[in-house]
This record gives sequence, structure tokens and C-alpha cells, in this order.
Amino acid sequence: MHQYIGPEGILDKRGQYFYPCTGYFYRNPPQIVKGEMQYLYGHDGKRYTDFFAGVSVCASGHCNPEIAARTAEQLKSLQHTCTLYLTQPNVDLAERLSEVLPGKLRRTFFVNSGSEANEGAMLLARLYTGRKGFIALEQGLHGRTYLTMSVTGLSMWRADPQLDAEDVAFIPRPYEYGVSPDEAARRSIDALKAVLAEKGDSIAAMLVEPIQGNGGIIVPPDWYFPEVKALLEQYGVLMIDDEIQTGFGRTGEMFAMSRWGVVPDIITMAKALGSGIPIAAFASTDEIAASFTRPSASTFGGNPVSSVTGLAVLDYIEANHMAEHSTKLGEQLLVGLKQLAEQYTEISDVRGAGLMIGAELCADDPARGAVLVDEVLEEMKDRGFIIGKNGVGRNVLAFQPPLVITAQDVEEMLNALRSSLRIVLG
Ligand code: PMP
Repeated sequence: MHQYIGPEGILDKRGQYFYPCTGYFYRNPPQIVKGEMQYLYGHDGKRYTDFFAGVSVCASGHCNPEIAARTAEQLKSLQHTCTLYLTQPNVDLAERLSEVLPGKLRRTFFVNSGSEANEGAMLLARLYTGRKGFIALEQGLHGRTYLTMSVTGLSMWRADPQLDAEDVAFIPRPYEYGVSPDEAARRSIDALKAVLAEKGDSIAAMLVEPIQGNGGIIVPPDWYFPEVKALLEQYGVLMIDDEIQTGFGRTGEMFAMSRWGVVPDIITMAKALGSGIPIAAFASTDEIAASFTRPSASTFGGNPVSSVTGLAVLDYIEANHMAEHSTKLGEQLLVGLKQLAEQYTEISDVRGAGLMIGAELCADDPARGAVLVDEVLEEMKDRGFIIGKNGVGRNVLAFQPPLVITAQDVEEMLNALRSSLRIVLG
């Protein structure tokens, strides 16, 4: 029997040994001690159905026994050599990824986190084009390194107030409250055209999340990304598709950009590829990859343990048709949330794709919405359901569960949400 220090003990140690930037959810947070597919357990034995998956990470479930067995087997036989030595798991995973990547994307560079994948993709774009500038969408999130933070539009995640803005042009995202989706997307395209006309020949790449995650689950109109890609091609600007939240079946496709038939030049991935084990990568075509000839290596990138886990995850996703499952259960969740929105005017919007859905509260008064979101999260946690939050005003309830959830889990969560909303909203 473990001697748990409990939530108070953890908060005490955080206060003493962590930086003050480290936030947490809940007024009364539980100490999480165990994960089992779509379930998490507190130190007191309480079970939670997880509808956030550690921010879209544990897509194949927490400690999925089929995946964990292969991770553990590799852990006991060979853990690390780095790419200076020849091992098989990373080349097998790169080959496997080439089979699921769209178009001619087939070269992969392995790293350890989403930020690192985007950083590498940005380096690659500069090497290939010989240009320095980037375009990014407002309210996007691409990482915590200097380069990736400088293309992160969400002010909340721009920790350094002195970020260099010289090389980055932000354009409006294809969403604006109170404006029709087509009109908002049109404004975004017009801004893109203006930047390209002014300095397109100095721009290496545009970074996009196909569906903005942290920015509040923003799905653009179907015509938007095909038009963006066509414009970028006119100016020789690469598209870096940040699939870190959306990749590997979450939205009903292996990669979300495929829903619009757009093949980007570089794809970055992380999170769900390891379903909890750190692994990330950026992938591109032979032609683009050929420009990356100067020596580069990531010490841990593509280590045998992460690579075997990535292979096991891909096997699991394919064998269990996770992308199709995501579409089906996403539909059930979306319908259920829309019914609640009809009942409560505070739910101003419900949007998403597959099992990546957001329910915005009080879009006309985000500060109030944020308070309500926190209350709903607390109520839901007490009822045994973990849901997330995001959005520019932190007023969006985020549903990004492990893809292994069942129709019954969705039904039970919606029932708990109904009860929670009744308490919070009256
Ligand atoms: N891109 C997106 C779309 C993300 O959501 C995140 C993290 N939430 C990142 C990049 C950065 O990933 P990491 O925290 O693994 O560096």
C-alpha cells in the first residue's frame, strides 16, 4: 500500500519546488495515482472517466495493456543508444509513418516534444527555402521554445514579453465571434493575401493548426485550407501543419488536414503518437528533406522505447479503427452537447470534429464564461468526470477524451453534465 501525500502535500511541494508559472485545474484537485484506458483513479480510490486525455495525449487509453506490454518489453531489453548507433525500432517507425502520412511525405526526424517538432519544422523550412520569415494564425499555439513561442498567437502562452516579432506576420484566424464563419475565413484569407503580396518572397512557411486546440477548438469552413495552400504555393511558401493535438485519429482522420484534401509540406506530430510516452516528429517529402544536410541529432529522439511505443500505438489505432470510432462517438457527443445548448443560453457555441469538441460558455462575456467553466469542471470532477478547458478567454469546455471511450461513457458524461449545468446555471 502506497503512502500518498495527498493533494495538500503535492500543492505544498509544488509551492516550494516548482516555478510559480505552473498552474493546475480545480479548487479541490485530486491526486491522480492510476490510469486504466479511459479511466483515472484518485489516491482515495475514486474513479474518473477522463474526457481530456492529458490534453489530447492518451488517445489510445491510459496504460493500454497491449501498448504498455510492448513498451515494457523494450524497456527491459534496450533503452537508449541515440541515432549514432543503428537500432531497428526508429527505422521501423519511420517506415510505418510513411505509410500513414499523406501525399509524398515520407521522411521523419524524431524528437521528444511538440515544441521541438515545430522548432525542427521551422528550421527545415528555412533551410529549404533560404528564407527567414513565418506567417502564423492569431490565437494559435505552437510551443515553448523561442522560435515556436514567437509564432504562438495566444498571449497567455507568450511567456516572454520581449519576443522578437521581426520575422513573424500574424493574420486573423478563420473565426471571429459574431461574424459568420465564411466572413471570418474570408478576412483571414484577405490578410494572408496582403502579407504575401507585401513580403511573400521572404517567408519560409506558414504554421497552422488544422483545428486550433488551445485557442478554443476552431474548425474553419471547408474551403479555407485548400485556398490557403493554393495561395502559399503561388509564393513558394511552405505549409507546416501542426497536428500535435489533432493527429492520429482524433478528428476522424489520421491527420485532420486530410478532411479538406490538403497535403501540407511538413507535418508535425507528438502527443497521441506515444499515448503518454514522450515522442514527437516532423515529417516532409524527399525533396524538402534533402535540404537538411548539416549535422543534427536529438539525443533522445527516436529512442527504442518511444519508437516501439509509437509502433504499438499505430498498430492499436489501426486494428481498432480508432479514427472511425472517433467520428461515430464524436457525433453522439456533439448531438448531446447541442441539445444542452438549446436548453442553456449560456452555452453559446458547440463545435469540433470527431472527439475534439468545444462548448463555449458566454462568448459575449468571456470573463463570466471562464468562471462558469471552472465551476462546471469542479462539479464534473466531483461526479467522476474529467473535462478540460481552453479558448482565448478560457471559457470553452474541452472534450478530447481517450479515443477508446464507449457510447455508454459519453451518455454518462452527458448526464453528469446536465446535472452539473443545472447546479451551476440554475
Ligand atoms: N502545438 C500544439 C497544437 C499544441 O497543442 C502543443 C501543446 N499543447 C504544442 C504544439 C507544444 O507541445 P509540447 O508541449 O509537447 O512542447
